[in-house]
Amino acid sequence: MLSSAFQDSFRHKGLRKKLVDDLRGKGITDEAVLQAINAVPRHFFLDLAFLELAYDDRAMPIGEGQTISQPFTVAFQSQLLEIKKRDKVLEIGTGSGYQASVLEKLGAKVYSIERQRKLYEKTRQLLQNMNSKVSTHFGDGTLGLPAFAPFDKIIVTAGAPVVPQSLCEQLKPGGFLVIPVGDEANQRMLRIRKQADGSLETETFDNFKFVPLVGKEGW
Ligand code: SAH
Repeated sequence: MLSSAFQDSFRHKGLRKKLVDDLRGKGITDEAVLQAINAVPRHFFLDLAFLELAYDDRAMPIGEGQTISQPFTVAFQSQLLEIKKRDKVLEIGTGSGYQASVLEKLGAKVYSIERQRKLYEKTRQLLQNMNSKVSTHFGDGTLGLPAFAPFDKIIVTAGAPVVPQSLCEQLKPGGFLVIPVGDEANQRMLRIRKQADGSLETETFDNFKFVPLVGKEGW
């Protein structure tokens, strides 16, 4: 049986619309991304204690010392990914499953990997209950997901000290990787595009603050 948290009321829809207006005001311009945020019920991904804050533009704890990213950050990364229907996308850091669900709503086939066992189990169950098609995996995402590579796009939702080599290798030519890179205090959003000849081109965007990417090619 679905818990009361699985009800999407008019009030929630209204709050979501306000959030979308807020994101527009903060510079998100991609209408498909704004529509996806408008469609995905973020309150499904939060613990009951935080339901009332689900549509504030802020990060929130999801257990195991981790957080669901701030909606602005989800929108910003989603916008940088320029998702096309049926893009094969790898997400590192499933967390609550919210970012993965937004990407799915944009038409992507999403693979998502999480290194915290409890969070992985909990979110896998949640996504199943929601009839989501996101493919969830347990493991160290800094090594990518070689069994399903290559990917059109890769998104990292934790802060990396360096760009993991494995992720670059698992990109298709023409594909790109969106990843925050920096120290523990703050990270710069990078978009790394793989050219037809395999060389990499990097664009630099704003600063963000993510939880650390922990793993073989991370912290
Ligand atoms: N995308 C998530 C954000 C979660 S925060 C959401 O929408 O809620 C980042 C997540 O990355 C945390 O759950 C953390 O456990 C996970 N993480 C950190 N290092 C990782 C790694 N090497 N592989 C997979 N997941 C990792």
